[in-house]
Amino acid sequence: MTHKMNAAVVTTFASPLVLQEWDIPTPGAGQILVKTEACGVCHTDLHAARGDWPLKPTLPFIPGHEGIGLVAAVGAGVTIVKEGDRVGVPWLYSACGHCEYCLSAWETVCEKAEFGGYTKNGGFAEYILADPNYVAHIPAGLPAKDAAAIICAGITTYKGIKESEAKPGQWIAISGAGGLGHLAIQYAKTMGLQVCAVDIDDGKLVHAKRVGADVVVNAKSSDPAAAVKEATSGGAHGVLITAPSLSAFKQGVGMTRKRGTCVLVGLPPGEFPVQLFDVVANCITIRGSFVGTRRDMAEALAFAAAGKVKADIELQPLSSINQVFDRLEHGEVAARVILEFGGN
Ligand code: NAD
Ligand code: ZN
Ligand code: ZN
Repeated sequence: MTHKMNAAVVTTFASPLVLQEWDIPTPGAGQILVKTEACGVCHTDLHAARGDWPLKPTLPFIPGHEGIGLVAAVGAGVTIVKEGDRVGVPWLYSACGHCEYCLSAWETVCEKAEFGGYTKNGGFAEYILADPNYVAHIPAGLPAKDAAAIICAGITTYKGIKESEAKPGQWIAISGAGGLGHLAIQYAKTMGLQVCAVDIDDGKLVHAKRVGADVVVNAKSSDPAAAVKEATSGGAHGVLITAPSLSAFKQGVGMTRKRGTCVLVGLPPGEFPVQLFDVVANCITIRGSFVGTRRDMAEALAFAAAGKVKADIELQPLSSINQVFDRLEHGEVAARVILEFGGN
């Protein structure tokens, strides 16, 4: 094999990514090398490249945390995967395995967690170095391009719906019907919930209906909280906010039924604007949710392998990443772009 790989690299925040040739990394003891087949483009990658969040990645870095590929080489001592296995390298790149959170199966909030495509180089490259203890195991029969969005957009929304504590037959409102949201709708339907999808774009709402939403609300053309309350006879039991917009957070609390739970998943920079009185007097729970555990990953992938959820994907080459980012920023991506890598 050649010793160089193509990668899309963030060299300066808020500037276009630079296509570079990097040395293919060599897996050390306990590491594996994955040859990328496909990698989804998440809105988080945009936040990362812009340096939107308080904890910033160290420059230069390779984004991408929906990378799926085949194990190309294993370092000394690796037994959990073998060459040729199909794995995913997710946002939860690794954790310590020993802290109070890891020990209680909350590895997502491990103090020493590393993040794929953020604190570790990710999947916008032909090869990815990974920790075999934290990779996703892709079920047989699920193609790489279909698995990609599941390992971030899928797991995050599947976990977020569980965290909403909405029960079968009850209502969930899903704010933002993009990459995360279009999968959230499908997970929620297959989990037996009634779904109200909210977006600011009519095209996204048509799509939301197509993938199973019972009711849709355009947050631009109406008072979305009032519209959701009316459609759900008093508010959604669970609300999942995936929209990368602060106004969606304020509205999301207003959509929540008394004693319901509003789960925050979108990560726009800034502070969370909320009327305290509405939260207190309605006994509302507001809860953050961050990707999902390895167990959530296996469950989220099983739904996809069984054909119960399917990401709507648009395939693009790695070289188009800056156009894809531009479209994602302007709401012009229908659901999920997957970078497809040739030569596999
Ligand atoms: P996306 O761009 O594909 O989708 C966002 C959707 O929100 C679009 O359809 C857009 O039209 C809609 N939207 C924008 N403003 C809105 C508003 N005011 N009300 C309703 N809808 C609105 O993005 P994505 O890849 O789905 O990611 C969404 C957010 O989730 C990002 O902030 C991302 O960083 C975050 N995220 C969080 C986690 C986590 O673990 N918590 C994981 C993955 C992504
Ligand atoms: Zn993501
Ligand atoms: Zn830990």
